[in-house]
Amino acid sequence: MNLLLLEPEDIVGPGRAIVRGRRLSHVQDVHKSEPGDTLRVGELNGLMGEARIIRLDKSELELEYAVTQESPPALPVTVLLALPRPKMLKRTFQALATMGVKRIVLMNTFRVEKSFWQSPWLRPEAIREQLVLGLEQGRDTVLPEVILEKRFKPFVEDRLPVLSQNMRKLVAHPVGGEECPRAINEPAILAIGPEGGFIPYEVERLVEYGFECVHLGSRILRVETAVPVLLSRLF
Ligand code: SAM
Repeated sequence: MNLLLLEPEDIVGPGRAIVRGRRLSHVQDVHKSEPGDTLRVGELNGLMGEARIIRLDKSELELEYAVTQESPPALPVTVLLALPRPKMLKRTFQALATMGVKRIVLMNTFRVEKSFWQSPWLRPEAIREQLVLGLEQGRDTVLPEVILEKRFKPFVEDRLPVLSQNMRKLVAHPVGGEECPRAINEPAILAIGPEGGFIPYEVERLVEYGFECVHLGSRILRVETAVPVLLSRLF
């Protein structure tokens, strides 16, 4: 936890907060902080700054803090991710939030297992928890927006054209296409396939809607690896 994120309910007065639960345990057990120590903090969806520990006991961490610093700039990218299996989804949410992605679309594709859509990890509070962990890691306060698209065809035909307007459109696919560009310096939407990959029909539809098919060479990366590799290469 490189930033202690303060939720609205933690804030008990101007520049005062009381934190409990996971963040309290982390400050006690991992940081091994004591009263008088300082911590880096941020208000969720707000500014970042520094806090001083006023009180620390088994049940509460009381902080006095001041926030003046903006969170780091977002990556100008929308990530369109075929829904991965729950274990990978958790890690991928964290990585996306850590790297500064602010819009994530989880979409269905032919090779996404139907049962994944029933996962408890897709509940809003579970998604939020993973995103917060990612923000704390990356020292950012701004929660990404997550959109669930459970049907590929109507999404691609009806909503994707609006969502991807004025963006460079890229679909990562190991077969065919061009080498993935580097440091593109322009807003983009990036589609990443499921564990079994996109089927040809899906790639064709995306290309029809203006997506460029790009590859990262002959090594096939897991989704959780492909995401940071693609983002670091593009931005
Ligand atoms: N056998 C699948 C295939 O051939 O598409 C592999 C899928 S891979 C585990 C999951 C996703 O990560 C892919 O659909 C793609 O979006 C991305 N990916 C992984 N390795 C890649 C590579 N070398 N080039 C481009 N995209 C890659």
